[in-house]
Amino acid sequence: MRKAQHTNSWYAASVNLTPEFPCLRGEDSTDVCIIGGGYTGLSTAIHLRDLGYSVVVLEANRVGWGASGRNGGHVGTGQRAGQVELEKMVGPEQARSLWQLGLEAVDTVCGLIDRFNINCDLKAGDLHLASSAADAASMAEDVEHLQSRYDYNRQRYVPPTELAQMTSGRGFHGAVLDTASKHLHPLNYAIGLAQAADKSGARIHEHSRVLSYTESDCIRVSTAGGQIEARHLVVACNGYLEKLEPRAAGRIMPINNYMLATEPLSEALARQLIRDDTSMSDSLFVINYWRLSGDNRLLFGGGETYTRQFPADIKNFVRKYMLRIYPELIDTRIEYGWGGALAVTMNRMPDFGRLSSRVFYAHGYSGHGVPIATLAGKLLAEVISGNTERFDIMANVPSPKFPGGTLLRWPGLVAAMLFYSLRDRFR
Ligand SMILES: Cc1cc2nc3c(=O)[nH]c(=O)nc-3n(C[C@H](O)[C@H](O)[C@H](O)COP(=O)(O)OP(=O)(O)OC[C@H]3O[C@@H](n4cnc5c(N)ncnc54)[C@H](O)[C@@H]3O)c2cc1C
Repeated sequence: MRKAQHTNSWYAASVNLTPEFPCLRGEDSTDVCIIGGGYTGLSTAIHLRDLGYSVVVLEANRVGWGASGRNGGHVGTGQRAGQVELEKMVGPEQARSLWQLGLEAVDTVCGLIDRFNINCDLKAGDLHLASSAADAASMAEDVEHLQSRYDYNRQRYVPPTELAQMTSGRGFHGAVLDTASKHLHPLNYAIGLAQAADKSGARIHEHSRVLSYTESDCIRVSTAGGQIEARHLVVACNGYLEKLEPRAAGRIMPINNYMLATEPLSEALARQLIRDDTSMSDSLFVINYWRLSGDNRLLFGGGETYTRQFPADIKNFVRKYMLRIYPELIDTRIEYGWGGALAVTMNRMPDFGRLSSRVFYAHGYSGHGVPIATLAGKLLAEVISGNTERFDIMANVPSPKFPGGTLLRWPGLVAAMLFYSLRDRFR
């Protein structure tokens, strides 16, 4: 059988190197077995090694093969849900702890990059653009709220006149500039984490899909080629969980999201689109997000689908969203188009939890996983070592189940998602 390789993206075309990790053969034992070699699994492995645990990572494909190697590369501060919303959801005290964890998530990403010298084009700054006047007003209020209640001074509201100097993007009514947010090359970051985990002593196996596991006196995890006996298990499969763990699947819905990369742009055109080399995104339900690559390509994400099927022509599927914002790119060549699956939750907050005293999971980052999945690894390592407090701050956020379950991407859910995405068009 042909072994899966990285999807044909600009990221795969510009990867630093792709180290190979052996397929699991035979039997092995470990303190902790981790299923999934994306940011969640790899960060867990690094943080567990720091605490002295032996670790095995089992990845069905290649490390970084999933969303971690295909995403927009935006590393936003805070949580996916806004603070005002979180205060209503969990009360002011827990909302404050979540805010702190959201800041720590970005610091954890930067700390790992620095500590392991990961070459992944890390840059600072994000502009979140208001797609309607109402969104602009509420963004300005949110900035004020973060300043007055959280003493956060890394954000400011950018009025439309100033915004026009910062981007030629059409249809925006204002923006929030956050100077603490970052952006990076996601696949190089993922592979850098894998190399760091490997160097720290974790045993990584690629092309080693977990078929099932059982839990009795210990946990036995089976792949086609071997078995791992472990004291603890971490399920870190996010949008690719499928039927492996139905007990954790009902709170997440896998959706597909798409990106393109243009040909390299002239310096003048690149600066016209994004003056300060920040990442950018809009405020639509089906979010558009973009930034420049190290070689001045526009990397643009837009469009979602809710069934397993990818569109036949991804480049053109995403291009139409890009042209609404930057019509001047009509003649620009699109060189890559790709998609990936991420997991969303009902309230857009991630779902952290335990399936027993020895089996843990974290997923459903809802498009905010570069920082929060990295943080999840740190908190999963803490909870396994018996330090439950910070993991539980995340786990205690209510995580409603999708009605009817999500494994079959229930038609009602698909209809609801389509309804919200259609609403975007009339704003
Ligand atoms: C197109 C796109 C754009 C995005 N943009 C952004 C962005 O700009 N900023 C942001 O913060 N987030 C973004 N996200 C979300 C972010 O990429 C994810 O939240 C994050 O990568 C999740 O990491 P993970 O390790 O949990 O999951 P993944 O990276 O998906 O890793 C899960 C891994 O589990 C493996 N696996 C599954 N089943 C098994 C099994 N049975 N046995 C062994 N291995 C298994 C898979 O092969 C996969 O490699 C985006 C996602 C997509 C798809």
